[in-house]
Amino acid sequence: MTQATAQVPESLEYRTEVRQLLDILAHSLYTEREIFLRELISNSSDALNRMQFEMLTNSDVVDHDLELAVTLRADRESKILTISDSGVGMNKEELVQNLGTIAHSGARSFLQGAKEQGKTLDEVIGQFGVGFYSVFMVAQEVTVTSRSHRPEDQAWSWHSTGESSYELTPAGKTSRGTEITIKLKDDADEFVNGWRLEQIVKKHSDYVSFPIYLLETKEVDSEDGEGEKESAESRRVINKRTALWRQSPQGVEAAQYTEFYKQLTFDFEDPLLHIHLITDAPVNMRSLLFIPSRRNRGLMSAQSEHGLRLYSRKILIQNRNRELLPDYFRFVEGVVDSEDLPLNVSREVVQSNPNIRQIRSALSKRIIRELKSLADADPEKYAKFWEQFGIFVKEGVASDPASQESLVALLRFHSSKSSPDEWVTLAQYAERMSSDQEQIYYVLGEDVKSVARSPHLDYFRANDIEVLYLVDPIDGYMTSMLREYEGKSLQNVDDAGLKLPEKETAESGEKVAQSDFDALVGRVKAVLGERVTDVRESKQLVNNPARLVSPENEFDRDLQRIRRLMEQDFQTPKKILELNRGHGLVKNLADLVQHDGENRLIDATIEQLFANALLMEGIHPNPAEMVERIQMLMEAAIPGA
Ligand code: ADP
Ligand code: MG
Repeated sequence: MTQATAQVPESLEYRTEVRQLLDILAHSLYTEREIFLRELISNSSDALNRMQFEMLTNSDVVDHDLELAVTLRADRESKILTISDSGVGMNKEELVQNLGTIAHSGARSFLQGAKEQGKTLDEVIGQFGVGFYSVFMVAQEVTVTSRSHRPEDQAWSWHSTGESSYELTPAGKTSRGTEITIKLKDDADEFVNGWRLEQIVKKHSDYVSFPIYLLETKEVDSEDGEGEKESAESRRVINKRTALWRQSPQGVEAAQYTEFYKQLTFDFEDPLLHIHLITDAPVNMRSLLFIPSRRNRGLMSAQSEHGLRLYSRKILIQNRNRELLPDYFRFVEGVVDSEDLPLNVSREVVQSNPNIRQIRSALSKRIIRELKSLADADPEKYAKFWEQFGIFVKEGVASDPASQESLVALLRFHSSKSSPDEWVTLAQYAERMSSDQEQIYYVLGEDVKSVARSPHLDYFRANDIEVLYLVDPIDGYMTSMLREYEGKSLQNVDDAGLKLPEKETAESGEKVAQSDFDALVGRVKAVLGERVTDVRESKQLVNNPARLVSPENEFDRDLQRIRRLMEQDFQTPKKILELNRGHGLVKNLADLVQHDGENRLIDATIEQLFANALLMEGIHPNPAEMVERIQMLMEAAIPGA
């Protein structure tokens, strides 16, 4: 092949999803277009980090001694902005792979998010970031020229106008790294303005750990004094580059933490809490952790995207290390830097390092401690934390026996004695218990409104005993692992063998005669058959006609609700149906069985009582099944005139 034929550009089509994304970006009236620069600098910084890491073990790279840096060159005349770096670079295949498809998970979520109703582009970009393609918000034309760090690779240029295809051409670049040349759109010429670039870098990329140079060409009077113009270049570093986590906390201002958090996570909201932890023994560690203010920043749905940024002696070892915190703290963001980790090891070895375990234990203890102080000092803010991240704490209580005791203090509940916006701790509950109450009672259910109506609460209401409302799917998992609090056992109120304090037995009105009641029980057993394990009189119901209780040996009952959500072939568990002998409906039904045993309303009412009880337990397999029967009962209740 001759040089000339090799220079003919190869034209390639973008994948469909890229075209869709480009279309949205190019035609958006997005007000914060400046974030394209954040995205490109963050890519450069990633490439530089990878280069630094590579050079720990491999010295056979192109331009071994080249400074690791990013350079912005702004040319006002031609409205061309160039962003270059001395990072790992890309060969031809990598250019196609990385810039022709959507590898970036954020961009995929972006596409989904943008389709969702009610979300503005600003919000979606703020949450997910869109990566490289965001450049087309400001560019007419983009050329990416890259020389990989691998000596055997060739330099290539990638060129696109943001339409349906891009072109590849061999390039003459000899120095290592990537150079992105942007021909700005006419309305985007602010981005060749030096002070504007500096302002954007300060806002979004100040803490990038490599120097970001700004190179400006300016027209200056020539020195010969004849009014001639000459262009001159100035070059200076415009980012701070401080490793904030290595500074003493006394010297860091709150606003710096917030700014750092935003630059680290691309979150547009302030964090709820920051934790700056410096230790030298037993392990050397500089760490800066953040609790975001919201759970859903696209993070928790993309399970692959959690973990802390791990540095060893200022060199980035891993972007998202998951060993540094227990899994249930996966909502925590931040940076950990330790001198006690070996540098020239593979990332896999880092994971099995004993110092990592030390760090993990120190970090989680500190997080728990900080959350406790927050709860004491600022209950309102803690409530915000709890609403967003409470389920993770519950997961921790269930899954980490070693930390269970300290995590329990962080738990909050609604209860039969709290107002809907009030949170109760286990300590408060224990404090309010009367002297003859031995257990801590809870009811499991779908949501606060429905558990508040639970027939299980009849007795507890009548006797002024507090019951905790456990309404998160994970609660059943938690209670199956958390059996007691300060010597008092936690007790589900649906337990058939509940040992209740000797109080006045709660009863409402006259009871139906024993023989009539027995006949009714026989009829209910015949109708429900195998679907219940027993039918019997309740000792606890007051206002409700019926309820389902769990047989005493039903060890997994707290897990039934979560299993119903997760298992396709979930079988409705068999329980004991209890009837209230003093309830009007039960009395009338017993009466009807006695005097008009063939009446079709009897069996329908029994079925519906059972369906209601299942519904209240949150385990009805198919509520729509009830509609036909309810209509029939309504017709019977409203006879024609
Ligand atoms: P993300 O950074 O989340 O992976 P981007 O769309 O920003 O997504 O970038 C896509 C990919 O292109 C990157 O993962 C990287 O492999 C490659 N890339 C982008 N910019 C550079 C660069 N300056 N140097 C080396 N590779 C780059
Ligand atoms: Mg990126």
